[in-house]
Amino acid sequence: MRPLLIVMSAPSGAGKSTLCDLLLQEFPEITYSVSCTTRAPRGEEEEGADYFFLSQEEFDRHVREGLLLEHAEVHGNRYGTPAAPVREAIAEGQSVLMDIDVVGAASVRAYVAGLPAGDPLREGFVDIFVEPPSLEELRRRLEGRGEDAPESIELRLRNAAGELARAGEFMYRVVNDDLRQAYLRLRDIVLLRGGAL
Ligand code: ADP
Ligand code: 5GP
Repeated sequence: MRPLLIVMSAPSGAGKSTLCDLLLQEFPEITYSVSCTTRAPRGEEEEGADYFFLSQEEFDRHVREGLLLEHAEVHGNRYGTPAAPVREAIAEGQSVLMDIDVVGAASVRAYVAGLPAGDPLREGFVDIFVEPPSLEELRRRLEGRGEDAPESIELRLRNAAGELARAGEFMYRVVNDDLRQAYLRLRDIVLLRGGAL
């Protein structure tokens, strides 16, 4: 397959992590881009595998030193993508999966659009928006996941409307109603863009 830069965004709770995990299980050769964040670890999250957990000062230093490909504030915390691992993976011909918010996705989209034609990052770029079947179901999933405080769930639901309004910016949209169907659509998109279909 051609190396892809796969950017996935969704309102929190839509099932993006679940879909990303399925993709990484089937395609272990895809490198997951581990983000930096100032939020506290949740549940079983591991440093360096799920996120690099940074203090505000460490995050500021990463921004100042130009170490992040993009960064944004999401639900009151800061998140950013370390640039070097993405560049290295693509240069080695490996695909990269980024799980980032709609603001970060717009930054990456603008960045790759500015690269010269033929640049592997530009050629392999694909962005996908995962949608929940409804806002009611989104609330059920956030509550069912049981990992966010009630205020955090309300904040995530309030932000969902603004995120859903930006779905049209993405090349592809996947409605995550039935998980299996949604995964098969995601898989088809990846195989198609990678030149394997
Ligand atoms: P996100 O990464 O988008 O915040 P998660 O992948 O953590 O969301 O999913 C949120 C919750 O919804 C989890 O408890 C997950 O198991 C569940 N979930 C994911 N996809 C579906 C689906 N298609 N149908 C029902 N529940 C789902
Ligand atoms: P969570 O706190 O639920 O792990 O993530 C909250 C939101 O932050 C999700 O929409 C997730 O995609 C986004 N996010 C995670 N990492 C990054 C990143 O590196 N950059 C940006 N812009 N958003 C990120």
